[in-house]
Amino acid sequence: MDQHGRTIDYLRISITDRCNERCLYCMPEGYKGWAQKADHLTAREVVQVAEAAVNLGFRKFRLTGGEPTIRADLPEIARGISELSGVDALALSTNATRLTKLAGTLREAGISSLNISLDALDPELYRKVTGSDVAGVLAGIDAAREVGFDRIKLNCVLMRGVNESEIWPLIRFASERDLPIRFIELMPLSNADVLNADNFLSIEEVIVRLQETDEVIPQESAGLGWGPARYYDLKKTGATVGFIGAMTTSDFCASCNKIRLTADGKIRPCLGRHNELDLLPALRRGEGVEDVLREAIALKPLDHEFSECYQPDRPMTAIGG
Ligand code: SAM
Ligand code: SF4
Repeated sequence: MDQHGRTIDYLRISITDRCNERCLYCMPEGYKGWAQKADHLTAREVVQVAEAAVNLGFRKFRLTGGEPTIRADLPEIARGISELSGVDALALSTNATRLTKLAGTLREAGISSLNISLDALDPELYRKVTGSDVAGVLAGIDAAREVGFDRIKLNCVLMRGVNESEIWPLIRFASERDLPIRFIELMPLSNADVLNADNFLSIEEVIVRLQETDEVIPQESAGLGWGPARYYDLKKTGATVGFIGAMTTSDFCASCNKIRLTADGKIRPCLGRHNELDLLPALRRGEGVEDVLREAIALKPLDHEFSECYQPDRPMTAIGG
């Protein structure tokens, strides 16, 4: 329990700050601030931190990045964590570009569910947002569906004037495949010109737009994840749509249950505040890291400070989504 009465049992582990895509909102153009390879936690070290977290009562884990599938030892990391006694679930966040090759191996390594980023279906627009090719991503989604993960969710970051036109096509795409899709408000985690008043699109505005075409019915308990998303059923379309409104939801942080581990061994108590604790020295001295994790939980703030002219000290790709 943290000092605000929240149970913290979810660790999001970034295993790399690098990525094979270049999403506008995640990686500033020309970004060169990569962590030194030597500072990246090894597979064994990542599992050691997860084990320390399990000892403190953490039960839910997510591997993320950057793009976690670019690390060749991802299956080894996944296996190491999923086999720890006390781990209830291990999820992966990915851009799906490598799932045609990896989906089966990752399932076998114990990954139970996937969150897949998909900001557009239109190839030109997808390339504009991510710098990459949507065909490979769609093939990756198909491959993942065939493997039989417990759950696959799609994630789309909302950008006014960029991918607004993709909202309905994405909802239909998700619904046809029986996948929930979540729309995420853009957070200030790249550079200032990416998040500005012109391209911010609130979840409330999207919900109102959906209501013009369909009946949007709140789901009381969707049981679709561990995070702050709120889910709705679209009656006519048959889709399940989630919304993550970190910027506009007043009680967004009230049920926060997580801390983050960066690829270079920093524990981040809150995505939307700069504070980080370094656990790499203790880890490399061969000491337990439970105390650092306990301190991070104790330091969890009541809420983020995104609305207070927050300037990112590291972009999302370096923190871990
Ligand atoms: N590469 C993987 C992916 O794209 O899913 C995992 C890492 S990515 C940083 C995790 C999530 O963070 C993605 O859903 C991405 O869309 C989201 N994200 C990144 N930057 C963001 C921002 N500035 N605002 C909102 N969501 C963001
Ligand atoms: Fe890479 Fe994911 Fe960031 Fe896009 S959102 S640049 S895929 S880490």
